[in-house]
Amino acid sequence: MKDSEYNVVEVAVPVPVRSSFSYLSKNQIIPGTRVKVSFGSRTLIGVVISSSTKPNFQKDLKSIDSVLDDKELLNKKDIELISWLSNYYKTPIGEVAKLFFPPSMRKEIEIPDEQEIFELTQKGEFYSEDLLKKSPKQLEMLSYFRKEKTATRHGLKSISYDSRILRELIKKELISKKKIKYKEEIQYETTENFLELNSEQKAAYESFKESIGSFKVHLLFGVTGSGKTETYMHIVRDVLENHKQVAVLVPEIGLTGSLEKSLKSRFGNKVVTMHSSLSNKDRQRSWKSIQSSSAKIILGTRSSIFTSTSDLGLIIVDEEHDSSYKQNEMPCYSARDTAIYKAKLHDCPIVLASATPSLESFNNAKLKKYALNKLEERVSEANKPKLELIDLRGKEIISGLATNTIAEIKKELTNGNQVMIFQNRRGYSPVVVCESCGWSPNCPNCDVRMVYHKQTNKYSCHHCGYAENYFQECKVCPNNELSFYGAGTEKLEESLRTIFPDFPILRIDSDISYKKDLNTLLAQPLKGEPMILVGTQILAKGHHLPDITLVVILDGDFSLYSLDFRATERMNQLITQVAGRSGRGNKSGKVLIQTFVPEHPSLEKVVDSSYETIAESLLQDRNQNKLPPFYHSINLITESTSYISCKEELNKIRGMFVNPHIDVIGPQPCIIEKRKNIFRWQISAKSKNRTLLHNSLNRVLENHKIIGNKVRLSIDVDPL
Ligand code: ADP
Ligand code: ZN
Ligand code: ZN
Repeated sequence: MKDSEYNVVEVAVPVPVRSSFSYLSKNQIIPGTRVKVSFGSRTLIGVVISSSTKPNFQKDLKSIDSVLDDKELLNKKDIELISWLSNYYKTPIGEVAKLFFPPSMRKEIEIPDEQEIFELTQKGEFYSEDLLKKSPKQLEMLSYFRKEKTATRHGLKSISYDSRILRELIKKELISKKKIKYKEEIQYETTENFLELNSEQKAAYESFKESIGSFKVHLLFGVTGSGKTETYMHIVRDVLENHKQVAVLVPEIGLTGSLEKSLKSRFGNKVVTMHSSLSNKDRQRSWKSIQSSSAKIILGTRSSIFTSTSDLGLIIVDEEHDSSYKQNEMPCYSARDTAIYKAKLHDCPIVLASATPSLESFNNAKLKKYALNKLEERVSEANKPKLELIDLRGKEIISGLATNTIAEIKKELTNGNQVMIFQNRRGYSPVVVCESCGWSPNCPNCDVRMVYHKQTNKYSCHHCGYAENYFQECKVCPNNELSFYGAGTEKLEESLRTIFPDFPILRIDSDISYKKDLNTLLAQPLKGEPMILVGTQILAKGHHLPDITLVVILDGDFSLYSLDFRATERMNQLITQVAGRSGRGNKSGKVLIQTFVPEHPSLEKVVDSSYETIAESLLQDRNQNKLPPFYHSINLITESTSYISCKEELNKIRGMFVNPHIDVIGPQPCIIEKRKNIFRWQISAKSKNRTLLHNSLNRVLENHKIIGNKVRLSIDVDPL
């Protein structure tokens, strides 16, 4: 065979090496196609990222084993996004490419190009409802079909879907099943009317509309309850009318519920979801229907931004300030920033929505890099909630609650209202200690104290999940009674049951919500009966609980002494968001913040100023202190079973940064130095000039070789 008969293809192979690998192929392979290749002694599945016919290759290149797809699965823009991610986040290209497929498709499987569609038959349309009186579930499903006409399995999951009920209806010939190619668009009808926008909403909407068809970042900065969601729904409708696709990102799965309902009630089968709690099969279906453009709206958590879209017309990032958009392991990408780059590639607008924008986005809006669309009024009559500090000094405190806080709670409950109490520590007692010798049950794998959980009657580590059965004796001295301090959500719940025996108490934290879906839990407060909700930050996020009139923040001081320079920003976001949960219906609300330092300037500001005023002043501090968004930073983290190796490796790397415009801090141990028996150290490189910083790091990484496998290096670009 002559060399010139071959093509050289570059394949992104899922191995921890930064570059792609060259292989030979007899045929042209379009980038975006999956191929099977041998790599060392293994056979791996990679993605072709480029292909050339130039015969200038080394003779010893291996050939591709086989081509898995008869048509490429990723488009040119996806490939560009992969290269950008790999380059910007310093992550091996093969590891990035892998993320663009749901797990099932990272294996050798054939991807079906047809999907099942269920359709209302004529018989179904005119069937007498009386005949289904005895089977209310069948009737419910039939009613759904009468409204929607057609449905995918996916669509049916928004009502209480049961495959048996569906089979019954098919047997009765009320519904028929057929298969259609993914590329056919599914028909849908919108039923729910859109609300008429008020003047602020209209102005924002008009501004979005002007950007349709071109790249532009909008910051939709609207106070909680100002109708941000309603506003972007209108622009979603316009984009769909142009037959383009829309990607909606939310920070957590718990939040997709209400938004999913709201999107599906308006756009029916055009909506699919993508998040890690879907089954592999469902993820593959979602992926395929979006990639083929059969579905038009993809709603999902951070990694859904990697789903291939061929004709993207709009991206929405809801609660853009939320730190869940940042992944904490390689690739340490920000889904918000990735979304902005993706919008740029697709030449479409992107809307970042929040009541408490990140300082990064707020600053970009001030610099006019982003369009700023403000909604300053709440939609409902309710006034802004009133914030008040509760001075805890010298007060009697019961499980973290001051007596005057308890009195306020009582008042609201007897008036028929709901109360939300916010405590950011889950478990029963966060501090367990021997008062004779000071010993605490620590996690043997991590450098942290364990928390006592009453429900499981265990001490458990919140970092690695390690747990030990309850014991009461000190393991070091003869004292046989450990003391318990602090009140986690479990203990708070217990005390509240004693103080308010006549009212329901609902605890919501990750110990509960991993068992039950958040929307199921929130059904109870939505009924409007007086009750108390106790929970962690999960409660603070975008849920509509109109009957809450009082919010209590148990520990207003939690961030004041933090080492993290973002703590004040986070505290203000949290308090503003939590406050936004109060008094949403037509009732006004109140927020009590308990503190031991009521005169602290940060707390005074929270009470007296708007989030925007606070953000302005925080930006000034950041600028003076050479911090983001004015300075850019990259952390380099080493992990090893030996802390000496961690440190030595970083010292070597540190010596390689030679530019005077780059500050390097460290090596120092990470905030939690030991986790799961692995030590973690870091250095932080900072510069005002982002390009310079990236270029220097690239040079360092090219020249740096870790010898042996004792130390693992990860890189966190724009760390949070
Ligand atoms: P946000 O996302 O800003 O917190 P939402 O979009 O969820 O606010 O709106 C808050 C509430 O106000 C919702 O119940 C919504 O239905 C209602 N709402 C929004 N816009 C309007 C409008 N223009 N007219 C009447 N009600 C509206
Ligand atoms: Zn002891
Ligand atoms: Zn641990």
